Amino acid sequence: MIKQKTWQYLLITTLLMITTLSNANSGGPLSPEQAAYDVNFYDLDLTINPSSKTIHGSLLCRVTILNPIDTLVLDLENPFTVDSVLFKKDNGIFTIATYSHFAGKLKIGIPEPVTSGNIVAVKIYYHGAPRISPNPPWGSGFVWDSSLSGRPWVGVACEFDGADIWWPCKDHPSDEPDSMSLSFTVPNPLICVSNGKHLGSIDNGDNTTTFNWFISTPINNYNVSIYAAEYLLIEETYQSVSGETIPFKFWVLPENYDDALNHMDVFLKEFNFLEEICGPFPFAGDKHGWAHAPYWGMEHQTIIAYGHDFTVNNWGLDYIHYHELAHEWWGNLVTAKDWSDVWIHEGLATYMETLYVEHLSGIERYHQYMINRRLPDSHVYPLAPREALTADHAFRNLWPYNRGASVMHTLRYHLGDETFFNLLKRWAYPDSTDLDNSDGRLCRIVTTDDMKNLAEEVTGRELDPFFEVFFRQAAYPVLNVNKGKSQTVFTWDSENNIPLDVNIPVRVNGEDQIVEMNDGAGIADISQSDVLIIDPKKWILMADPVIITSTEDDISTIADYRLEQNYPNPFNPFTTISFSLAKPEFVSLKVYDLSGSEIVPLVNEKMTAGIHEINFNGSNLASGIYYYRLHAGKCRQTKKAILMK
Ligand SMILES: [Zn+2]
Repeated sequence: MIKQKTWQYLLITTLLMITTLSNANSGGPLSPEQAAYDVNFYDLDLTINPSSKTIHGSLLCRVTILNPIDTLVLDLENPFTVDSVLFKKDNGIFTIATYSHFAGKLKIGIPEPVTSGNIVAVKIYYHGAPRISPNPPWGSGFVWDSSLSGRPWVGVACEFDGADIWWPCKDHPSDEPDSMSLSFTVPNPLICVSNGKHLGSIDNGDNTTTFNWFISTPINNYNVSIYAAEYLLIEETYQSVSGETIPFKFWVLPENYDDALNHMDVFLKEFNFLEEICGPFPFAGDKHGWAHAPYWGMEHQTIIAYGHDFTVNNWGLDYIHYHELAHEWWGNLVTAKDWSDVWIHEGLATYMETLYVEHLSGIERYHQYMINRRLPDSHVYPLAPREALTADHAFRNLWPYNRGASVMHTLRYHLGDETFFNLLKRWAYPDSTDLDNSDGRLCRIVTTDDMKNLAEEVTGRELDPFFEVFFRQAAYPVLNVNKGKSQTVFTWDSENNIPLDVNIPVRVNGEDQIVEMNDGAGIADISQSDVLIIDPKKWILMADPVIITSTEDDISTIADYRLEQNYPNPFNPFTTISFSLAKPEFVSLKVYDLSGSEIVPLVNEKMTAGIHEINFNGSNLASGIYYYRLHAGKCRQTKKAILMK
């Protein structure tokens, strides 16, 4: 899905999302009932009636049973009435099944025992008025718009809430059908466009036409979509980097037909660039298509929603087209197993934008684009938490777009260009021989750990510290810089003291250098009189460095003093701060607020060598971020604590 263009807009729509998504529920922990089966196939057959804003029809779902169950649980929103349900086991015949439909769950009674390996099919007949999106594509629902002719222009988007807002499904990102059939009946003269291949259309003789589509690959449920309008079709053939010819099909409103034709060069160049850096377009077996949508955009597989104005922005991008197209690799070919891994979709799609800016306008513009994506360094959640999350929670709290892109930017610096760009292709196509398999067979569902493991395999590098700090920790790492008389000591400071090995680019008296970091520390011959700029290009996603000037060289402090992360953190209202001293020292430990004002002195006395634990009570303080700073002899270290009430 696209992100909003400006900070202000982002904040406004984030607030809108919070209100409109109050009953959003795609994903989250998978219930045992739904973990007990694996979806093989869906067949969706619907009549779309724009005049009454209703839909009716059936959904057939075929699953493999993994654990014995007596109830098959699907998700379907409450506005719908279920008319009847049929059940079939293996090669049996369909019989009428009992069911209940309550609180968004459709529970179908299984009339005979089923066990692991049985194939079960259910067919659900239903009708109703699907919810209308208040703010497509961010608010899920149907869009009942009209084109210039006054005829209906219909769309649907549902990433946050899942496809159960319009058809019964297992609404969890970890399970996709292997293929899917789609039939949509709409009033003449509307054309109904969908994912996959167009198998044909049947004029029903009653002023309606049924459009049949088939998706030959796995697909995540929120990507299944329809567009209905009085479309005109623009067709192109495209020579893929794989050597194949890919059918391009673009459905556009008549009033924008010329705009689309004139813009074709932009679309083709953006497509070509993504193939060059990510490998072949992954769904060549079905098609590449977009449909003119009554909302901005969405990454619907093989039929992306395009609701932009056929122009490029100041960076040279048709941002909507490019971002949604990038999702064909990042989101559709490679799909996050849980919404907590959604950086794989949005972080990579956003970073692809940056790479295209570099391709069009050079590395300086690339850096500017990344600086514009930089977020403040205070976060409550990591980029990729280890727990299962719903879509709305992940999109609201993880900042997967800009934070994800910033981590990719840092990873590029960490690995070097050749290794990083090789990794991008391998993330899409894990084996170099896979580059010939662009028919969707490599669709796969992955976790952040899968991405890390593949990255380690491809690069030959140990990436645990990098992934732990940048994906699993809420706070950005802090670089402590201790400037001695003739040498400067650099230490990485992160939660749990992970020995981060990201080297530091520095500019010393105008000359660029790299400080090598081993086990989280490094030393350089930089004196106090040298003009030092840390990370001048802003390659590394880190908090503002803490710079200390010592009266003498201070290399010993790396081993002699250690300030630990407070535990628990976040805390309410008690937490423990511990630190170790190599020798007796006069110690000052103080807590500061974000503005740097001293809140409370915790220690101010001479202390013995060894480990010390100090309890901190935040009961009189407001929720928020605080810093605690240790001064012990010449050592100064600072860490961040989060009070959440
Ligand atoms: Zn997106």
